[in-house]
Amino acid sequence: MEKRPAVFFDRDGVVNRSPGAGYVTRWQDFELNEGIDAAVSLCKSRGYYAVLVTSQRCVSKGLISIDTLHALHDEMQHALGASAKFDSIHEFTGLPGTESLEKPNPGLILEAARALPIDLERSWLIGDADRDIVMAQRAGVPSTVRVLTNHPVGVEAMFTVDSIAALIPLLELRLPFV
Ligand SMILES: [Mg+2]
Repeated sequence: MEKRPAVFFDRDGVVNRSPGAGYVTRWQDFELNEGIDAAVSLCKSRGYYAVLVTSQRCVSKGLISIDTLHALHDEMQHALGASAKFDSIHEFTGLPGTESLEKPNPGLILEAARALPIDLERSWLIGDADRDIVMAQRAGVPSTVRVLTNHPVGVEAMFTVDSIAALIPLLELRLPFV
């Protein structure tokens, strides 16, 4: 299969409203950000894989089972709709042996690049925390977008937007067609 770039999406704060210091453990608390389906769909229509890379330490903390987390992601995929479905989902759970997947390590992105033929050098990442931006840099993903949420900004991303509404025009302008 020919390699294609991906757009890596962080989950909490990007795909859904950030739960702050806590976790989303039930679908009824999972609030999709308005316009995120259009943003994912735009990336896919330009020829990119859409890949979700998310830290859910709530699994190792015993707040949610891995099966419930997967069921929640199934619901999310359904709610996003066919044109905005993620091609692959990668989770850090905090369970023993998963340390290399913990952001800002590059493990989640490297795992995705083993699951799909991803051209990392032309890939993008959209996140809301320093650890997302640094993970991309360590994985060799050059283009980064920060969506401002409650996370403090310590590392500059290539682009910064203050909302998902502002993300869409940025991608329309800057995301090259594959
Ligand atoms: Mg986040």
